[in-house]
Amino acid sequence: MTHVDLSPLNALDGDFVVPGQPDYETVRHIWNGMFDKRPAVVIRCASPHDVGIGVALARDNGLPLAVRGGGHSAAGHSTVDDGVVLDLAPMHEVVLDVESGIVAVGGGATWGQVDAVTQRHGLAVPGGVYSKTGVGGLALAGGYGWIRNSYGFSCASLVGAELVTADSSVVRTDAEHHPDLLWALRGGGGNVGVVTQFLFEVHPVGPEVYFLFVFHDGRDGGIPRALGLFREFCSTAPNSVSALAFAGVVPDGMEGVAAEAFGRPFTAFGAVFLGDPSAGEEVLRPLHDFGVPLFDASGTTSYVQVQQMFDPDYPAGERHYWKSVQLEGLGDEAVALIADAAVQPASDLSTVDVWHLGGRTHEPIDGAMPVTSAAYLISPEANWRDADRDEENIGWVRGLVAALHPLSNGVRYLNFAGFQEEGDELMRSSLAPNYQRLAEVKARWDPQNLFRLNQNVPPAPA
Ligand SMILES: Cc1cc2nc3c(=O)[nH]c(=O)nc-3n(C[C@H](O)[C@H](O)[C@H](O)COP(=O)(O)OP(=O)(O)OC[C@H]3O[C@@H](n4cnc5c(N)ncnc54)[C@H](O)[C@@H]3O)c2cc1C
Repeated sequence: MTHVDLSPLNALDGDFVVPGQPDYETVRHIWNGMFDKRPAVVIRCASPHDVGIGVALARDNGLPLAVRGGGHSAAGHSTVDDGVVLDLAPMHEVVLDVESGIVAVGGGATWGQVDAVTQRHGLAVPGGVYSKTGVGGLALAGGYGWIRNSYGFSCASLVGAELVTADSSVVRTDAEHHPDLLWALRGGGGNVGVVTQFLFEVHPVGPEVYFLFVFHDGRDGGIPRALGLFREFCSTAPNSVSALAFAGVVPDGMEGVAAEAFGRPFTAFGAVFLGDPSAGEEVLRPLHDFGVPLFDASGTTSYVQVQQMFDPDYPAGERHYWKSVQLEGLGDEAVALIADAAVQPASDLSTVDVWHLGGRTHEPIDGAMPVTSAAYLISPEANWRDADRDEENIGWVRGLVAALHPLSNGVRYLNFAGFQEEGDELMRSSLAPNYQRLAEVKARWDPQNLFRLNQNVPPAPA
């Protein structure tokens, strides 16, 4: 970096950190401990002006550029060796206009920060199931969580944005202004620029909801039976229910579970019902009453609390490798493969997650994210602590994905896509039939592919 002139950074509204400064060890890290990189500079952006300066610094000096929203990219996109990191966390303002039903969200806000504002009015934007993920990474590549079947993917609620493009211009997009950019932001990742403000439509949610969260014993074929019940339940579930099943072995020391159950196979059901909570309890009873629960945190609770329920389970700095396949149906063969993998994970922190995609997740989006007819997204997530065990943990995920692949539609969810080692092939299969159109938008706005540390689609050739 000795050859790079950092003097433009003196004009920042925010600040920056370089190696050797006290904060450097903190700011260089992201959530996934698999990525131990050393950026040349981390710019803590406080305004679109700062983002423009950072983009210019990378562009004019030929440095790699990483954009960080909430820093929770499982694929490690928001840090880079010897390059520029734009940390958007200081831009986390959330302003709700109840009358228009639109919330303006800073480019570095987390979903917890959004919920804190919208839930005061019983409103929400569909986010994920964890409050610390950034709005940026999650929504730009799709985004689904506890209200997906009622209101669709996060990107489907995106109605406008302010972004900084590769030439450092600040541009606004909505249905009338540069609609190609809005189209690309709905599922096309960070390919066309750095979003400094999102505009989302909000929807009525809670503030109290019925939440099902129960672990059932998975011994003696319990996992296939539970997944069979889950399939039957989901086949007739109303759109007001968004349900998830996950299977694994009870981790040692899990709070709220009797010690003799540690190490036992389990299937857990989690679901949110939007509407009268007592009606939700009735609707979800079959999943609740499947067996005598090993653990049960079900009940009427605030949507904000539901959103934070999994926060303690994913502390920063541990090691993670997550991948996914989409299935049109949950046949017996898939169930058997899932159950086999779930009872022999390489780490007891790992699970195989089975998300039901129903209701509005099947509605076409006017955006880069293709419509899906898949009813299930299967996501094996390996979570572990010991660097010596990387290979077996990654191998466990890859093994299940490879086994399920022939039963799937070939599409990966781009936020759960391993470390994107399948490169362009992954992007083509997961964005088809919108890949070419996204490449053309990319060519218009980022012809040099400056924004490439992401779910990258290279610019279409001129
Ligand atoms: C614990 C945990 C739980 C999760 N749960 C869910 C879930 O329920 N549903 C779901 O859909 N996904 C979920 N995910 C996946 C999540 O969507 C991705 O990991 C996502 O990348 C996180 O976004 P982020 O902003 O925190 O990431 P970051 O690491 O900050 O960013 C990732 C990439 O997104 C792009 N980006 C981020 N912000 C901007 C911006 N403002 N402008 C332009 N580009 C930007 C950049 O390319 C960046 O490299 C979860 C992840 C974790 C770690």
